[in-house]
Amino acid sequence: MARTPDVLETSGATLAPSEDTALSLDPSAAPLLRKAVPDIDETPMTRAQQITVGVFVFAPMLALLAAIPFFWGWGLGWHDIVIGAVFYWVSGLGITVGYHRYFTHSSFKAKPGLRVALAIAGSLAMEGPVVTWVSDHRRHHKYSDKEGDPHSPWRYGDNTRALAKGLAWAHTLWLLDPNQTSQEKFAPDLLADSKIRKVDAWFPAIVAFTLLAPAVIGGFWSYAGVFSWHAAIEAFFWAGLVRVTLLHHVTWSINSICHTWGNTDWQSRDRSVNVAWLAIASFGESWHNLHHADPTCARHGALKGQIDQSARVIQWFEKAGWAYDVRWPDEVRLNAKRAADATRSLGSMTKRNEKAAKAAKPADKAAA
Ligand SMILES: [Zn+2]
Ligand SMILES: [Zn+2]
Repeated sequence: MARTPDVLETSGATLAPSEDTALSLDPSAAPLLRKAVPDIDETPMTRAQQITVGVFVFAPMLALLAAIPFFWGWGLGWHDIVIGAVFYWVSGLGITVGYHRYFTHSSFKAKPGLRVALAIAGSLAMEGPVVTWVSDHRRHHKYSDKEGDPHSPWRYGDNTRALAKGLAWAHTLWLLDPNQTSQEKFAPDLLADSKIRKVDAWFPAIVAFTLLAPAVIGGFWSYAGVFSWHAAIEAFFWAGLVRVTLLHHVTWSINSICHTWGNTDWQSRDRSVNVAWLAIASFGESWHNLHHADPTCARHGALKGQIDQSARVIQWFEKAGWAYDVRWPDEVRLNAKRAADATRSLGSMTKRNEKAAKAAKPADKAAA
């Protein structure tokens, strides 16, 4: 694959602000991009690694299909729904608040305990270790919908056939690409953190936990108060496999659907769109057009009425004192990125006028 020339300079600890610094950088962080290192690792993914990824991508889906006749008429109880919902919520927000808004884009700063907790919570989603996820996603922002993007649906062209192929690629097949994003280039800040490297190394154990814990909880949470194998298998199926599969497809839809069909309320350099019907299931990540227009913004559903549960959770963390320096939507900044025909007003949590707010209150929290 031809390499796209690097566009970012990385002298010193800061990067020159430009549209290409979509990764967004916390000026105090270590340089996030290293010019000398190529985007793709020199050693491609081995066949064994590809098979492992393939098993984790497709096995939950296939297990789901194969298990339907087995489970038909056998049971789904409210215990399974409660356990599944809790795991969906924790692991999903681990991805959106943790892996994405915090680790990839530095939308806020976190106390050390929250930092580790977010890395673990994201790992529960079985979407890969945090450093791998962040590296791929930063590469996505660097090239979005151009050559070098790991998962653009427009990879093969614009006609229907090419788009169908591209959607399959963007949704799942890219995960099997032997070209691996260089972590040294895209996530040196995370590689430099021994605690994060430890969570990364524990990823297989966290995967075992995310699949088996629902079974154990379900097994013990039986009506008679004794361990029930029936309840354990049922919880494993619904709160383990089905929950992981659902979240996988919601996350992957951000890469496929949210670069294909939806509204463009904002000006971005790519084909990202806002998709309202995915907002609740994706915890606000489907307001993807705003996200590409302003990648560091902590609230993606920045317009009035755009539900963004991840932003709400970041606000809870801020109120608890665990998160700080949150980059809430900024009226001045966002107004410069509105589409020409946009009429809807900005929602809560927006900094209405940065200068005035700062003058009035130095430790500006500015939540509306
Ligand atoms: Zn992003
Ligand atoms: Zn995107």
